[in-house]
Amino acid sequence: MKIQVDSTKCDAYGLCAETAPDLFELDDFGYATARGDGLVGEEHRAAVQEAITACPVAAIRVLEA
Ligand code: SF4
Repeated sequence: MKIQVDSTKCDAYGLCAETAPDLFELDDFGYATARGDGLVGEEHRAAVQEAITACPVAAIRVLEA
């Protein structure tokens, strides 16, 4: 799967990176992006779901490969 952060929605709450620091990183202003190219293995599905649940503005999307 591939994870993406919708930069038009992200409001820099930082909860995704707090919940799943291996998957998300924050810029200097606290806005999130997926680490690397956003491709993550099945073993991270639970962590991805936790981050999605944690995000207050539903900015995280998952594209199934
Ligand atoms: S939790 Fe949501 S709003 Fe907060 S930094 Fe992550 S993607 Fe952005």
